[in-house]
Amino acid sequence: MFFFFGMNTSDKEYGTEGYHVCTRCNKTGYWKLVKRTTWLILMFIPIPVRVRYLAVCPGCGGSAEMTKEEFNEAVKRNGSGGSV
Ligand SMILES: [Zn+2]
Repeated sequence: MFFFFGMNTSDKEYGTEGYHVCTRCNKTGYWKLVKRTTWLILMFIPIPVRVRYLAVCPGCGGSAEMTKEEFNEAVKRNGSGGSV
């Protein structure tokens, strides 16, 4: 039996989280809400193994992890509609 597998990550953006100063690059900007999914590709079938909810700095790409609840609240606040 031949097995083929690999790992992949995909990002999906859900608008902006808020206007923040970044502690890493000191830039102020609208942080992006990003749902980052890690996939295991097994026999060409992607299986989600890990989901992270992140606020991402537009300046340096630094990220802060959020809970799913916090993320959903932030998505609702920016009015892009729907939940994750
Ligand atoms: Zn930054």
